[in-house]
This record gives sequence, structure tokens and C-alpha cells, in this order.
Amino acid sequence: MFRHISGYDFPPFRPPNEAESALIRITRGCPWNKCEFCSMYKSLKFELKPQEEIHDDIRKARQIYRDADSIFLGDSDNLVHKDLAEIVSCIRKTFPEARRITAYARAKTILRKKMEFLTTVRKAGLNRLHFGLESGDAVVLENLCKGATPEEMKEAGRKAKKAGFEVSFYVISGAGGKERWKEHAINSARVLNEIEPDYIRLRTLTIQHGTPMKEKQKNGIFIITPPLERLKEVKLFVEELDLEGCYLASDHLTNYLWAGGGIIYRGVEGNLPGDKKEMLETLSRAIEFVESTDLEVKDSNQLYEEGFLTAL
Ligand code: SF4
Repeated sequence: MFRHISGYDFPPFRPPNEAESALIRITRGCPWNKCEFCSMYKSLKFELKPQEEIHDDIRKARQIYRDADSIFLGDSDNLVHKDLAEIVSCIRKTFPEARRITAYARAKTILRKKMEFLTTVRKAGLNRLHFGLESGDAVVLENLCKGATPEEMKEAGRKAKKAGFEVSFYVISGAGGKERWKEHAINSARVLNEIEPDYIRLRTLTIQHGTPMKEKQKNGIFIITPPLERLKEVKLFVEELDLEGCYLASDHLTNYLWAGGGIIYRGVEGNLPGDKKEMLETLSRAIEFVESTDLEVKDSNQLYEEGFLTAL
């Protein structure tokens, strides 16, 4: 556990698998900030933190996270910081025992950056980038207002890999809605097959109040993928994945399904291709249950509306 240090600038968000990581903030907010499902940084104006503030935070971080094995850099798009390599070097010197340093990355930013910049940052010690692919389907990406096409996502992922980064891609299950779950599944797998990421992480679209997506839902423009179709979507997605040496994680509570007061599905997780058969069997069992039960099956959207899910 960490100690509280006054004035430390904690990043407000981090990926679920970085729960044990030391958190150090390099930028604040998101320079894009337009994705229709996202509520993360809406109230923040994007800014690069000044070097002195960052270095002060690195010193404080050492006191807060004494045994940090991994470090996550906030906020959403640190590759825009021209001094990132120098900052990462300083973090490496301050935390010599840390196994990895990771950060979120936006495809458009990776594409804009010169390969030399990326390799310098990588060599300085930033190991892994978390990308929000969300979907590999062009229509879905446009509907989400993601600001990048599937081709750009593919190109950015491959460029980051070429620069030596491990890459982790988020896919939003349910992003295609009831109308487009098949295209979303097939095209997301297709893009990922071409990127060959180290990790794929699933989370389920849970539409939050105050987001443009909520308005679309209220107006009937977007219909949430019901639990049965969502399971079929994940099954189709896993079937279509053709990857070696990739780990698929469902490390978020939004992936669960509930019925009769209990959890009936927790998501699928495992190595590809080794655990693919088992994951597909898990999905088939869950589909069979949902198709045959008289119980109401609830997803993260219903639990959010009922006030049982708050940390999204
Ligand atoms: S999903 Fe990522 S890129 Fe999109 S607005 Fe949110 S933080 Fe920015």
C-alpha cells in the first residue's frame, strides 16, 4: 500500500491491469476528447505538465510507491510530450527495479511521430502501449467518433511494434450495438490479426449519463447489444482471431452477466491460440444458458442504471 503525499498529482484513470502500478502523470486530459462513449477527461482541458512538476512528482512517487514493480504514465496521450524520452529515463533511474513502464497511446499520435522519436522513447524504458482500438469496423469507429480509421489503427499498431513496444489493444464489446455486432466482431478480429498485438483486452460498452452516446441511446439512434447477441459477438470475435502469442483478457467487471442475483458469465481469458477452444466452450455454455433460462439476464448497462455499478 502507498503513503499519502500532499500535492501529488494522481492520474484519475488507469487500465485495470495497472491497479498495482505506480501512477505518474505526464500530461492532463485528452487532446482528442471527442469519443462519444467516453466520460473520462471531459471536464479537463488537455495540457502538458511542465518538466519541473513532473520531476517533482517522480521524486514524490518514489516515496509513495516504495516497491513499484510497474509504472503507468497518465493521462491519455503522453507520446505528444516532446520530452518523453528524458522523462522516462528519469523514471527508470528513480525506479531501477521496475519491470515495466506503460502508457496509453492514440493511433493518430503514433502515426504523426517519427520512428526515431518512438525508438528513443522505447529505449529510454517505456515498454508497453495501451491503445483503444474499440472496433475494427469503419462504420462503428465513425459512429463512436473515435477519430481514427481501421487502417490508421492497423498502421499505428504495427509502427509501435516496429519501434519495439509491446502493444495492448482494447476492444469494446457491444460497440456495434444491436444492429452491427457481427461486422464489429469480424472486422475487429481482422484488424487485430494484422497488428498481431501482445494483448487484447475486452470491456463492454456501458453507456454513461452525460455522454453523447447516452443521447443517441435515448433517441433510439443506438440500441445496446442485448446479452445474448453480445455473447455471440464475443464468440464470433474469438473464432475469427488468428493470432500466435497473444493474451486475450476480459479484465473488467463490465464484461460480466448476471441472472437470479448471481454472476452467470465472467468473460473469457487466455492465450491465443492455446486457450481458444476452451474460451469458445465457455461462450457456448453461456449462450446456451441465456437461450434457455426464464431468468432476466442483466448486463453492465442495467446494473449501472440500477446504481450497482459505478466504477467504469
Ligand atoms: S476514449 Fe481515449 S481518445 Fe477517446 S476521448 Fe476518451 S481518452 Fe480521449
